[in-house]
Amino acid sequence: MQRRKLIKNLGVGAVAAGALAACSEQSCEEGGAADKGRASKGKTFKWKMVTTWPKNFPGLGTGAQYLADLIPQMTGNRVQVKLYAARELVPAFEVFGAVSAGTAEMGHGAAYYWKGKHPATQFFTCVPFGFNATEMSGWLQFGGGMQLWEELYDKFNLIPNEAGNTGAQMAGWFNKPINTVDDLRGLKMRIPGLGGEVIKRLGGAPVNLPGGEIFTSLQSGAIDATEWVGPYNDLAFGLHQAAKYYYTTPWHEPGPTLEAIINKDAFAELPADLQVAVRAACRVANSQMLAEYTARNNAAMNSLVNEHKVNMLPLPTVVTDELRRVSDEVVAEIAQHDELSQRIYKSYEAFREQTVTYSRISEQAYLNVRNPA
Ligand code: CA
Repeated sequence: MQRRKLIKNLGVGAVAAGALAACSEQSCEEGGAADKGRASKGKTFKWKMVTTWPKNFPGLGTGAQYLADLIPQMTGNRVQVKLYAARELVPAFEVFGAVSAGTAEMGHGAAYYWKGKHPATQFFTCVPFGFNATEMSGWLQFGGGMQLWEELYDKFNLIPNEAGNTGAQMAGWFNKPINTVDDLRGLKMRIPGLGGEVIKRLGGAPVNLPGGEIFTSLQSGAIDATEWVGPYNDLAFGLHQAAKYYYTTPWHEPGPTLEAIINKDAFAELPADLQVAVRAACRVANSQMLAEYTARNNAAMNSLVNEHKVNMLPLPTVVTDELRRVSDEVVAEIAQHDELSQRIYKSYEAFREQTVTYSRISEQAYLNVRNPA
């Protein structure tokens, strides 16, 4: 049996070798590609991964490191990845350009940081009142979202992947109570992206600050409010020592997807099995980070409430109703940018309509019966 199998295998190999020998590179593309695949089978690829995160920053930086460690484990060390934290090789906001140009083969960050390259990138992290983490994966993997993301990034010589999610983020820390929309007028708040645009249209003054400057700005009164992530990261920054009111209602970042971007030329050099493994590793990193945030946020919330006596409050409905109305306007405006933005917006909205209806009778219905008010 063993011997027959061995002979059979040798036979197949001999036919394949004969076919390859019989054609030149130009006249036998298929054989040439197979030959190239075989030649690169034993090759080791050494990749650089640049990130927008500080080294080992809880959840985000550690999530990127998890992916950098997982890829060699899943490829038998044939793809090795060295991670560079923000500013180690390039500054945080140059990650996209560096991977696009091939300075690094891979990057970890968030698509909405690149809205200056194209405003529709924001759909692939999150938009206010948009998808939560599981709905986002549903749209990307089965709702046509990933094809649109690939089409958008193709212009930049990049392949996108979902590679992390923080889950729903808290509304943020405020130094005064927010009872009506009027309380947002003149409010200097650190809140980036579309959420910031919404605050601006309601009379606030949004600013964007890197994570490392948030605490001192809030404590000194340079800003009146800030959003950051959620209990896990907010506790680590000590934001409870700098502001009195912690508004929890998630609205602006309901389930932001973090991305792993890959330079297209570097990806094309990988044999097919390594291409599959690298993209699969990104998916594993995506669910790993969401699980980490789910567990750590619970624990950090307990610490904030019980040890630090933080007052966690929901935003009043009169405020969230206005936030939702303005958010819908701001998101719809992205569609005006170009034809691709319009297709992305249409796909996103069609999926959102379905998911809003279905979530009412599934997750929302379940959470309502599990956690009665
Ligand atoms: Ca945030």
